[in-house]
Amino acid sequence: NISKYDPQNIFAKILRKEIPCKAIYENDFVLAFHDIAPQAPVHALIIPKNPYTCYSDFAERAAPEELVAFSKAIAYVAKELGLEDNGYRIISNIGRDSGQEVPHFHFHIMGGKQLGFMG
Ligand code: 5GP
Repeated sequence: NISKYDPQNIFAKILRKEIPCKAIYENDFVLAFHDIAPQAPVHALIIPKNPYTCYSDFAERAAPEELVAFSKAIAYVAKELGLEDNGYRIISNIGRDSGQEVPHFHFHIMGGKQLGFMG
């Protein structure tokens, strides 16, 4: 896994507002925004505001209120995006074998069509 957080990664720049994003939802702990290259009719990303490289890093180091806020925000954003009735998928890539591209922990929220199996 990725050991050291790189403050120059693209999501760190989005959090510092150095580059724009299409925001969906924000609170003290998380930011949700649309993926720049959507792989489904709805493809959002949700990230913690604090610097974690991947899910493992987040799970190990985040405060309990941060873990709770993050998991609740996923469901909230899915609802906001109208995905609750037909369903959706959440995934997080962790490290090299998953193909994780951006080394700031995030979940993908995807839906809006019948999704194929991935892997
Ligand atoms: P990963 O492969 O790390 O799980 O996913 C990274 C995701 O971030 C990809 O789906 C990619 O399209 C998205 N992404 C990369 N750069 C940007 C950007 O500058 N803005 C937004 N909104 N999404 C990005």
